[in-house]
Amino acid sequence: MPEGDSIRRVANKLLPLVGQTIERATTQGLFRDLVGRTILKVAAHGKHLTIDLDNQTEIHVHQGMNGRFRSLTRANGEAMLAKTSPGRASLVIATATNLYLWLTCPTVEITPRRAPRHGMSTHKLGPDVLAGDFDSRQGAERAAEHPTRRIADVLLDQRVVAGLGNIWKTESLFMCRIDPRTLVAAIPVHALAQIYETARELMQASVDSNMRDLAAYSRTSKPCPRCGALIIAYQLGDPPRWTWSCPHCQPFAVG
Ligand SMILES: [Zn+2]
Repeated sequence: MPEGDSIRRVANKLLPLVGQTIERATTQGLFRDLVGRTILKVAAHGKHLTIDLDNQTEIHVHQGMNGRFRSLTRANGEAMLAKTSPGRASLVIATATNLYLWLTCPTVEITPRRAPRHGMSTHKLGPDVLAGDFDSRQGAERAAEHPTRRIADVLLDQRVVAGLGNIWKTESLFMCRIDPRTLVAAIPVHALAQIYETARELMQASVDSNMRDLAAYSRTSKPCPRCGALIIAYQLGDPPRWTWSCPHCQPFAVG
């Protein structure tokens, strides 16, 4: 699933788009009335991407579980598009030189800026863990408002802090040696802040290097890189999500 770092990478790839004029825009093969519009700003907030246009309009994309993004030259993009069924091409933005293609994204909205949005709108999201002004202490205080929930579930709750998904939930808890099943009430606020700080550092490194170096995620029965114990996997949350931890480095205190 695309997490905050992936969306930040998409936003970075779209930066050359700022100041460019849209020659064609379609959603699921339908032409949208955006020809000639200039792109003013591209921004990522958590897992949401917004593209501001010069007519007080905003394009909002959420890639969901299976959404994909491609940045292509115009010629390569047109060739790829010709082989793609229109229903899968959630959003296409073509400029004179480039073509940007979003595939199988559940949410693509073109709305007036400031208009109330449907579904999971960005104004209901918590602070973005990758934002320049993100304050991990403030994130920790927001998490601490959910003492009876498991830390793994609170880290995925985009209303608390936006941007973390299953990968960085798993990895930041591993780095901080906290069992994902631990109740928030059992974790001191400074340790909660440390989790968010760690997630932010890991995700920023992922944005910068375009690589993910994972220690626990999806490593069922493989040796822990720290102690050699075998990584365990189980499901947590509603809906259930696979979660990984080291039974030795991240001991689970029942209570
Ligand atoms: Zn270990």
